[in-house]
Amino acid sequence: MNPGLEIRTDYPLLTLNTFGINAVASRFVSLASSDDFKKLIESGLLRREPFFVLGGGSNVVFCGDYKGVIVHPVNKGIRLLSKSTGCVYVEAEAGEVWSDFVDYCIDNQWFGLENLAGIPGCVGASPVQNVGAYGKEAKDFIDRVHLFDIQTGVQLWMDASQCGFGYRWSVFKGEMKNRFLIDKVVFRLSTEFCPDLQYKALSSALSERGIDSPTARQLADTVKQVRDSKLPDPKKIGSAGSFFKNPVVSRAKAESLLEDNPDMVVFPVGDAECKLAAGWLIEQCGWKGRTIGNVGVYEKQALVLVNRGGCSGAEVKALSDAIINDVESRYGVRLECEAIFV
Ligand SMILES: Cc1cc2nc3c(=O)[nH]c(=O)nc-3n(C[C@H](O)[C@H](O)[C@H](O)COP(=O)(O)OP(=O)(O)OC[C@H]3O[C@@H](n4cnc5c(N)ncnc54)[C@H](O)[C@@H]3O)c2cc1C
Repeated sequence: MNPGLEIRTDYPLLTLNTFGINAVASRFVSLASSDDFKKLIESGLLRREPFFVLGGGSNVVFCGDYKGVIVHPVNKGIRLLSKSTGCVYVEAEAGEVWSDFVDYCIDNQWFGLENLAGIPGCVGASPVQNVGAYGKEAKDFIDRVHLFDIQTGVQLWMDASQCGFGYRWSVFKGEMKNRFLIDKVVFRLSTEFCPDLQYKALSSALSERGIDSPTARQLADTVKQVRDSKLPDPKKIGSAGSFFKNPVVSRAKAESLLEDNPDMVVFPVGDAECKLAAGWLIEQCGWKGRTIGNVGVYEKQALVLVNRGGCSGAEVKALSDAIINDVESRYGVRLECEAIFV
């Protein structure tokens, strides 16, 4: 059935993924409005063929050409839904660029998202892995998510409490993977600016700029500046940002590792668990700055794998597997990828 949308064939994905992998989709469709989402689902195409929803492509690695339908939401719009004492509810469509959305909120004096400034990608992906940076996560601000059920075509709102948010995790990455298309997200933001400077990198960068009590704009700009100093600019060097999640281990395991590695980077998570810095583990295994073929480990941050020029998804996978195995055999800790292989 023709969904009344333009379905393109043999569509190049090179400029649609920040790793810069040269893959081609056998079919490709852009969705510019909620009506387009509806039409596509009603056509049944996604029930007949494999599909993948591609936002800004900043968390994906294409392992080869994609033999199915790439669904690319580009719907735009930001609306103030309501305002009450101290808070606002703001709705943003999936195709809005996340970083532009954060800037727009700050310009309108809707506060909370400052520490999440500069994260690549689109609003529609923000609930999927519960994007986070500098002590804040999208879940701290998401009120509800509007979805299309791909199997039934039903449209529904899911409250934040139903989204199963965790560290770089949600039901959309887990048990409900591939079940929904997200077309908009409602955020609950504050009308009072209350900076969160718990991360030393931020407070130090502000001090260096001679700022004691930053405005929201100064904080967001500083976040972007700190990010730029540590992470590769996807326009210049292909990457998917942090490639691995920081592993969470039992407190007993962390303590036993600390005995042999007193300078290991460890953050307590509740009473029973600890988060280890994956970048530290990778660096200790000697991977920082190394290159294998056309893919490498970023010189400034061992957590980031980078495209050294024309790399393939298979090369990324091989390097990622080698790092995972090396860290596991040395520390007994198995790293998990944050980036998604497609
Ligand atoms: C340089 C760099 C720095 C980064 N820094 C951070 C960081 O600080 N914190 C962080 O959390 N992440 C970071 N990332 C990872 C990435 O930016 C986020 O995961 C981002 O949310 C991905 O958004 P995207 O639109 O590019 O999604 P994509 O990479 O296109 O897709 C990611 C996942 O979301 C799904 N998806 C996307 N849109 C929809 C939709 N509308 N409906 C249903 N499913 C959808 C996809 O199917 C896929 O499973 C970084 C990446 C880069 C390249």
